[in-house]
Formats: sequence, C-alpha cells, structure tokens
Amino acid sequence: EILKVHTRKTPLGADVILSKIARGTPGFSGADLENLVNEAALFAARSDKKVIDQHDLEQAKDKVIMGVERKSLVLTDVEKRTTAYHEAGHTLVGKNLPGTDPIHKVTIIPRGMALGVTQTLPNEDRVNLSKDRAENTIAFLMGGRTAEEIVLNQQTTGAGNDIERATDLARRMVCEWGMSEVLGPLTFGGKEEQIFLGRDISQHRDYSEQTAQTIDREIRDIVERNYRRAKEIVRTNQKALHDLAAALLEHETLDGEEVDQIIRGEKITRPRPSETVGGGSNPPTAVAAVTTESPVKGGGGGPAPAPLPA
Ligand code: ZN
Repeated sequence: EILKVHTRKTPLGADVILSKIARGTPGFSGADLENLVNEAALFAARSDKKVIDQHDLEQAKDKVIMGVERKSLVLTDVEKRTTAYHEAGHTLVGKNLPGTDPIHKVTIIPRGMALGVTQTLPNEDRVNLSKDRAENTIAFLMGGRTAEEIVLNQQTTGAGNDIERATDLARRMVCEWGMSEVLGPLTFGGKEEQIFLGRDISQHRDYSEQTAQTIDREIRDIVERNYRRAKEIVRTNQKALHDLAAALLEHETLDGEEVDQIIRGEKITRPRPSETVGGGSNPPTAVAAVTTESPVKGGGGGPAPAPLPA
C-alpha cells in the first residue's frame, strides 16, 4: 500500500508487480520505499525510458539494500574464481536445506563492501525465527567458507562477515532465546542499553564463570555443527558446485530459476550479455536477506590489484 502511494504519480510499466517488490522489502519504512521509487525513476531516466519497469524497481531495490555496484573494481581471475565458489557454496547449501528461503539471485559483481552476494527471498513477512531456521541460517552462512575450503583448499577474509553473523546468531540463540538444551530457557547477560558507551562494555554479567564457559561451549557447538552440515552438503554436491561457479564466472549473475536449472544438471541458455545485471529478461522479483559479504581488507579497494581503467 505504501508503494502504491509513492508510485501514484509515477508512470509504471505494464510489467510492474509492486507486490513482488513489497515482498522483498520487509521492514522498509515509508521513507525507504520512497527512496526506492526515486532510485527506480533515476534508473529509468538513465535509459531514456518513459515509464519505470520492474527491472528498474529491482535494480533500485538492490541498490538500496546492498549498495552501489562497483563494476570499476577490478578483480583478478583468482579473486573472481574464489568469489564464484564462495557464492556457489552459499547457494548450494541454501538449496539443500529444507525450510530456508528460496534463493532469489546470486552474483559475483562487487557491490558496496561485498565481492559477491547471494540473496534469498522470504515467502512471507517473518519476524519470528524458529530454532531450525536459525540453525539453517548458520549453515547457509557457512556455505561460502566450506566451498572455498573444499575446492580451493583455502580460507580467505571473504568469509569474515559470514562468520561474524553466524556467531552472533548462535550467541543470541543461547543467551537471548533460550534455544540451548544445556542452558535451558534463560537469558544471560542482561543488556544495559548504554549504547552511548559503545559496544558490549556495558553488558553486565549475571552468571557465574562456570556458566560463561558453558555458554561459550554451546555457541561453539551450534556454529561447528552447522559448519559440518554445510561442509557435508558441499562435499556431496560437488558437481553442482562446480557448475554453479562456472555459470557465475560466465554470467556474473544468476536468478533463482537458473540456479535450479544448474542444480538439476541442465544448461542455462540466455542471449543476454554478461554485462546485463539484475534480472534482465527473467522476471525480477524482490529480495530480502543479503548474505555473504566478502568484506575487503581496509574497507575500500581491498585485496584487489591496483585499479586499472575498466
Ligand atoms: Zn559469504
């Protein structure tokens, strides 16, 4: 309804389905959605279009959620390959876990701080997270690292953000949501909301040293068992992993349908050049959870070689 309001005076193409954009922007405020529509108008204007089509909205949503594409960032072939396997790992694990959000899009075009992104699209607005889903999310986050380990036999900084998010989720499962069988339905570490002091400094400890050790062990246990699940999925689906990575290297971006085709062992066919991003002729839909950043060292150009003119 908010999108309808903000697009009331905007000429929309016949292919526009606002509900798809709405589905991919849970938690967006009215101002966020207004911003999204404005960005879409800019994309349309840049291509000399008189109306905003679904592709413009999709591009705008990606930009608002994930930051601007950085096509100027020149990556070496080795980095591209690493990113392709990393994202393919996330995708593969996501596809093999029941009850996780469908994969919407996977790309190895750098965006913001990320070298690649695997997006999932929730089927419904969700605020409540079940324990199963939390565990699956951790396994999904581990998919990138495990693929790098298995295929390339390496660990890179690219998984840093995944690991941080997985650890944070596991910590909240144990300390906030009572999802540890060992510790039971209690909360640990009541938060003093003294945000102005910064970070965890003000978190007061309301438990014993022994409990602290149990908490650490439980967090480690959750992360490690889901790391093992991810690794097992990647290990037993290596053909699909190689096919996904190869397709990513060729096309840079794959949509959910193409991912399914590749996993089924089919070849994807499409005329569009690899420069076209974000949906193209395929029906673009909305996104939600951005996963798998590969933050670059120092928060800028990162490990990329000296930037050359593209
Ligand atoms: Zn990742």
